[in-house]
Amino acid sequence: MSDTQRRILLVEDEESLAGSIRYSLEQEGFTVTLAVDGRKAIERFRNDDPDLVILDLMLPELSGLDVCRLIRQESNVPIVMVTAKDSEADKVAGLELGADDYVTKPFSIRELVSRVRAHLRRARMQAPAAAEEMLNGGPIEMDVAKHEVRVGEGLVAFPPKEFELLEAFLRRRGRLLTREFLIEEIWGHDYVGDTKTLDVHVKRIRQKIEQDPHDPELLLTVRGLGYKFVG
Ligand code: CA
Repeated sequence: MSDTQRRILLVEDEESLAGSIRYSLEQEGFTVTLAVDGRKAIERFRNDDPDLVILDLMLPELSGLDVCRLIRQESNVPIVMVTAKDSEADKVAGLELGADDYVTKPFSIRELVSRVRAHLRRARMQAPAAAEEMLNGGPIEMDVAKHEVRVGEGLVAFPPKEFELLEAFLRRRGRLLTREFLIEEIWGHDYVGDTKTLDVHVKRIRQKIEQDPHDPELLLTVRGLGYKFVG
């Protein structure tokens, strides 16, 4: 797909800044949708299925961090945050929530455009291949089509739900995956069982992939939120 067909969701409430970013991106051949507050951002995101999101963190209605978290629960779309100079904490929080990159105000629009291009390029390269697909992380190698997992040299058996869960982690390495996201992703919307099920599955996976399952170094607990795979 050429860049001319690429859709960008721009979430920015400062009218003049939004105008100039939009203008520059359109000059470069991108299609741009603008959302001026957090709620509209989520709405537009769900309607438009953009290829990349530029997200200002200081927004009315719903903060940029909330928007980032909600989008990340649904999608791996590249997110470039726009932060104020003095908001180091927001920047870190945004990256923890799964944003891919940030620019700090004031920034050059040329720089923003080049980041956008780089992230779209990367996203395209990471798009899953049709047939054979291998996922890696730490000592783990997963053959998605064959449903096989190697840990180090040896094949290890993973029942379906454990396999799906491990796959979710390998596809989103380094990102915090919330408990809600994982339960919905693996067990579906209508899941009514005990949420301990998730922890039990994580425990079983750890027994298969960690040197010391009681002191995990690959599949980490993010207290009160969820899990993160860092292999
Ligand atoms: Ca703002």
